[in-house]
Amino acid sequence: MASAAETAAMRRAIALSAAGLGATSPNPPVGCVLLGPSDQIVGEGYHERKGEAHAEAQALAAAGPLAAGATAVVTLEPCNHQGRTPPCRQALIDAGVRRAVVAVIDPTSRGEGGVAELRRAGVDVETGVLAGEAQIVLGDWLAGFRTRRPVITWPYLITGQGVGELPSGTGEARRLRLNADAVLGPDGTVREAVPGSHGKGILALQDLPPGRSAAEMAAALYDGGVRRLLLGGGYDAAAPFLGAGLVDRVVACLPHGNASSRPAADLPWPLLPPGFVIAGTIKTENFVRVDGRPDALREACAYQRTMPRQVLDPAGRHFYGGRAGCSAPGAQYPAAFAAAMSALMLPWP
Ligand SMILES: [Zn+2]
Repeated sequence: MASAAETAAMRRAIALSAAGLGATSPNPPVGCVLLGPSDQIVGEGYHERKGEAHAEAQALAAAGPLAAGATAVVTLEPCNHQGRTPPCRQALIDAGVRRAVVAVIDPTSRGEGGVAELRRAGVDVETGVLAGEAQIVLGDWLAGFRTRRPVITWPYLITGQGVGELPSGTGEARRLRLNADAVLGPDGTVREAVPGSHGKGILALQDLPPGRSAAEMAAALYDGGVRRLLLGGGYDAAAPFLGAGLVDRVVACLPHGNASSRPAADLPWPLLPPGFVIAGTIKTENFVRVDGRPDALREACAYQRTMPRQVLDPAGRHFYGGRAGCSAPGAQYPAAFAAAMSALMLPWP
């Protein structure tokens, strides 16, 4: 079981990993903390962008000889493949790391990833430590792996005059761009959310000519390396994505200042698109910002009702479905159900 010092260090690694948001794609944002024998931090780091050192390598470089005998606390399973950089599991082994504490298993490893190799080399490995919290940062990358499209956020300004594009100069728009990979304009232009943030030639961004479906555009952006997409424009630009069920989050910015008012125009809806619920609100200088997400709980319950009475989830825990008279222990969660449940945990940038 992970010690109190290790779980505390994992939370620090998760926070460090978030510094890679909007820059690491198509790689995942990962953080790593190295703990010495008396639980002091001897090195830490995060992955900045593809082609540069992974989180573990950054932490090992910071620790130098102090990495020998240390415990590596890392938000994602260390990689086992020779890419642009050497595999991290080998770097950890070579540095003499004694134990590894991992939050999330890399879905691309298929059980043959860094954890298996570390164990083979005699390193004590514990997995699944604060996996849910780690997914607050890694969740979008994992969701993209499942769905082969970016996680899509649509920010908008909603006033008495209608639903329009959130002005790009606002603090909210800047903050959203900082956490995103790319922005799809209403005219099909695609641009890096923060120019240069991913490094030269990492993302393959091409403008998307009109006439393609929202799903085709999303898939093309994923293939170009985009894992977090912002939709630019107002209601008309977002409508095809909303209609296709491809909007994962909305950020509604409602100007405040008038304590008594009568909205003038016909709004498409009072605040959030149909099927969306409020996930959070915060007051900023100019707006009440409302984060909305699809009502995943409702979707999850709808799936649940179609399921056999008793199934096991991939971790082997029992789960009770809703279909009477049917028992199928050993059946697996339907992928759609798992996606709906994990959507409940998706973070907002
Ligand atoms: Zn690595």
